Amino acid sequence: MPAKGPIAVVTTISTLNSFVQGVGGNLVRVQSLVPVGASPETYQPTPQNVAMLSNARLLVENGAGLETWLQGLLDNAGASNMKPVVGSQGLPVIGHNPHLWMDPQYAKHYVERIRDALILIDPAHRAEYRHNAAAYNRRLDALTAWIRSQVDSVPRSRRVLIVFHNAWQYYDNRFGITTLGIIEEAPGQEPNPHDFGHTIDLAKEHHVRAIFGEPEYSPKLAESLAHDAGISVVENLYDDSIGADPQVNNYISMLQYDTREIVRSMQ
Ligand SMILES: [Zn+2]
Repeated sequence: MPAKGPIAVVTTISTLNSFVQGVGGNLVRVQSLVPVGASPETYQPTPQNVAMLSNARLLVENGAGLETWLQGLLDNAGASNMKPVVGSQGLPVIGHNPHLWMDPQYAKHYVERIRDALILIDPAHRAEYRHNAAAYNRRLDALTAWIRSQVDSVPRSRRVLIVFHNAWQYYDNRFGITTLGIIEEAPGQEPNPHDFGHTIDLAKEHHVRAIFGEPEYSPKLAESLAHDAGISVVENLYDDSIGADPQVNNYISMLQYDTREIVRSMQ
C-alpha cells in the first residue's frame, strides 16, 4: 500500500538534509537527530530522537564512525519499518576521519545512495528521484568548480588553515589546501599544553592570518590561540552542522560561505 503524505526521512546530522531534500523534493519530509548547532561527536540522544526514528521510513547516517551513539538509539526505537542508508559507504575513508561529506564530489555519492533508497521505498516516483538527483549533482559539480576557482586565486604557499577540529581533510584534499593545525584532536577533548604550543608555533612560522572556530564549540581556545600567535581574526566555519542563518542553512550555501571565509583569510 502506498504511504500517505510525504515520506518521513531522518538524518543524523543536518548537513545531510539538503541531499535528501534535493532528491526527494515535496515527496519527503526530513528532520535531523542532532539539532542544528549541536556537535555529532559529543551528542547525547534524547527521547524525542526515539520518537523521530519510530516514525521514519528512511534513516540517512554518515557512517565512518561518526555516530557512535546511533546503535543504542536504534535499539530503543525498534523501528522495523525503517530503511537505513550509510552515505559514506563505498568512499575511501582516510584514517578514522568521518567528514567525507565536506568534499562536494563525495557528496554526490551520498545523493546517489539516497536516490537508490528512495526508489526502493517509493518506486512509483522513480523517475522524479532520478531527475532530482541528477539535477542536484550538477549543482554540486558547479559548486566544486566555483570553490576551485576561489582557492586557485590564492598563492599555493598561503593555502594553509588552522581549524577547530579535523573536519577539513577531504575538502583540503579536493582543493589543494593544507590544514596545518587542529585545536582539538577529538571534539570536546581539550588539547594538552604541548600540542597547543606546537600549533601556536606553526601558526607563527607559516604566517597564518586567521584561526577558525565553530559555532557549536566555545570560542575560548581559538581566541587564546589567536592571541598567543598574534593573529587578529577568529571566524566560525560550518561543517558538522548547518547554521540557522539563510546564508549557511543548506549544504551548498554553507560551503560557499566557508570557502569565502577561508579564501579571505588566506589572501
Ligand atoms: Zn566533526
